[in-house]
Amino acid sequence: MISFRHVNKYYGNFHVLKDINLEVDEGEVVVIIGPSGSGKSTMLRCINRLEEITDGELFVRNIKVNDKKTNINELRKNIGMVFQHFNLYPHRTVLQNITLAPVKVLGMSKEEAEKKAMHYLERVGIPDKANAYPSQLSGGQQQRVAIARGLAMEPSIMLFDEPTSALDPEMIGEVLDVMKSLAKDGMTMVVVTHEMGFAREVADRVIFMDQGKIIEDNTPEAFFKNP
Ligand code: ADP
Ligand code: ADP
Repeated sequence: MISFRHVNKYYGNFHVLKDINLEVDEGEVVVIIGPSGSGKSTMLRCINRLEEITDGELFVRNIKVNDKKTNINELRKNIGMVFQHFNLYPHRTVLQNITLAPVKVLGMSKEEAEKKAMHYLERVGIPDKANAYPSQLSGGQQQRVAIARGLAMEPSIMLFDEPTSALDPEMIGEVLDVMKSLAKDGMTMVVVTHEMGFAREVADRVIFMDQGKIIEDNTPEAFFKNP
């Protein structure tokens, strides 16, 4: 589904990703951990071309991500992304936040998009919040809306960039539970997180990054085994 082959990226002179090689198969859950500044977020952002790689090759399904001929919308239709800060539109209701992209990008009718939005709001456990505004929701609920918004595009891959890092501790569980259930349903996921319990329980593979390099790529059993 995702393939990094000898990928390097520089920000100016700063070598942020160093010879990254990674294959993510369909249905796999890959968790990326590592110290702050090691390049985890940059790696995720390269996948949907929020950042450009400098050299090497990167494929999503059969799409060559950084080819000039690649249509960025076609690429991004495959990929839902959830950020640390929920990035919801404050002046739109929950329902409108979710239907916007399916209507604008996929050309779905408003009725169909709303039906889908309600389906995914049920999926994340807050169908009763459809007509609320983001500011009326808790952080955990807002993040669940952000996940529903990603799912409503029916992507084949979901990327999560520290989805619980901005949440109060009591709300972390409700977001991780939604992510666990997606994993169980076979969604292909790449997750940057500091939640080691999630990595241990849910990941098929754990990637440890440091200073722009993949230091370890292992099963959670092997990864968390005491040395
Ligand atoms: P992580 O997600 O592991 O914390 P990041 O990928 O966010 O790491 O950042 C890796 C390094 O790249 C950090 O040193 C950060 O300051 C730097 N960096 C991130 N984005 C940019 C940018 N747009 N321009 C320059 N440097 C950046
Ligand atoms: P987060 O932890 O939410 O990923 P960051 O503080 O790492 O947020 O980055 C926020 C934004 O600033 C990102 O778009 C990132 O690319 C950019 N950024 C981070 N570090 C730098 C840097 N050293 N120079 C320029 N832009 C940066």
